[in-house]
Amino acid sequence: LDRDNFLRAENTRHQFHPMTHPMMSAEHPPQIITHGDGCYVTDLDGNRLVDGVGGLWNVNVGHNRAEVKQAIVEQMDRISYYSSFSGSATAPSIELSAKVCEMAAEEEITKVMFSANGSDAVETALKLARQYWHLVGQPTRTKFLSLKQGYHGVHFGGLSVNGAPYYRNAYEPLLGGCFQIDSPWTYRNPYSEDPEELADAVITQIERTIQAQGSQTVAAFIAEPVQGAGGVIVPPASFWPKLRAVLDKYEVLLISDEVVTGFGRSGSMFGARGWGVKPDIMCLAKGISSGYVPLGATALNKRVADAWYKEFSETGIIMHGYTSTGHPVGCAAALACLDIVEQEDLPGNAAKMGARLLEGLKPLAERCSIVGEVRGKGLMVGLDMVSDKDARSPMDPGNGIVERIAGYAREEGAIVRPAGSVIILSPPLVIQEPEIDIIVDALTKACDRYDAEQ
Ligand code: PMP
Repeated sequence: LDRDNFLRAENTRHQFHPMTHPMMSAEHPPQIITHGDGCYVTDLDGNRLVDGVGGLWNVNVGHNRAEVKQAIVEQMDRISYYSSFSGSATAPSIELSAKVCEMAAEEEITKVMFSANGSDAVETALKLARQYWHLVGQPTRTKFLSLKQGYHGVHFGGLSVNGAPYYRNAYEPLLGGCFQIDSPWTYRNPYSEDPEELADAVITQIERTIQAQGSQTVAAFIAEPVQGAGGVIVPPASFWPKLRAVLDKYEVLLISDEVVTGFGRSGSMFGARGWGVKPDIMCLAKGISSGYVPLGATALNKRVADAWYKEFSETGIIMHGYTSTGHPVGCAAALACLDIVEQEDLPGNAAKMGARLLEGLKPLAERCSIVGEVRGKGLMVGLDMVSDKDARSPMDPGNGIVERIAGYAREEGAIVRPAGSVIILSPPLVIQEPEIDIIVDALTKACDRYDAEQ
């Protein structure tokens, strides 16, 4: 109890998290989570809540799995760290890279480089994309295209391709030669509500940008198969195949940022696979190790990977690598997590449970005065909160209403995530019907309570 009181009293003074902690105060203390089991977590006050957020869309296999803990301890008993520099390696990283290649055989992934988180995985992908063009004799290909509303982490490369200006403004100047294209977002776009027309309009913009810049200057296009942090934006089904086709026309690399969608969350093993598309490079993190340990990975297909090994002797070493690259405990934990993903068919469960969650929440768009749209794919679902339904004006996050709805849902037993004007749901992929229904019920009651107070 002494410790509990310490956590309550000292909670925000020393821990620095620029995105969230400055908003906290005595009236808005952080939610201190002390325990987890499956898709439930327990807070400092002993409340057991459904984890509708899955940590931060990463705890795919659920909390406190014995198999993962055992894999971590067994690896620590052998060796907890050795570097993967200077010709050495540890067994788990070799096994995990083989495992990822086996799981992504359909995508012809043949090489995997490990790092510590999603931002590293993106940074690595952007650097390796540029280096690929050096290796194949087209060093003028340095530019990157991405989507508005895209989110690719917090490193300088990722910031430069991120969509929303508020991620970037304080850190400029960023990388030059980065261009953001309108997202294929049916709910809010200047083109059309018809999915096919919208997909075509965005593809046209991409093609025009490549032509205007000169295709010999464009290295890669980076995008999330379903945009997550930008508000759970699901593109029209034809968008990714059309994207792949236009990039192929100009030989531009496709980087699929699968940090959220990788390993099942959007209802298929990889998000791009869900659209029938094979990327050249995939950024992986979150679900690879389900949050048990930090881990990122950048996966290269044969086209990209082969360039290295053909040219390696001439170009010498690759100046990119982290102390934590191939961390044995991280890789051992990830191997255990990926076994669970396969054995329990978590992509299949995400598709099934995601459909139930979406259907359960959809009526809120009719019933509640401030829910504009409920959308999602697999276990990525968003409630778009609006101040004016007809105008589809996003709710101002500054007025506290989105946070209030999330707070009410928590009182009803489910943690949901207010992110700007959108309430995001991304529970563990092991979730079952009763817990889906608790989330639906909690949000329904929360919205009803808000409307009753007006
Ligand atoms: N890419 C995407 C698509 C993400 O959603 C995130 C994190 N939410 C990142 C990259 C960055 O990952 P990390 O926070 O682990 O650095």
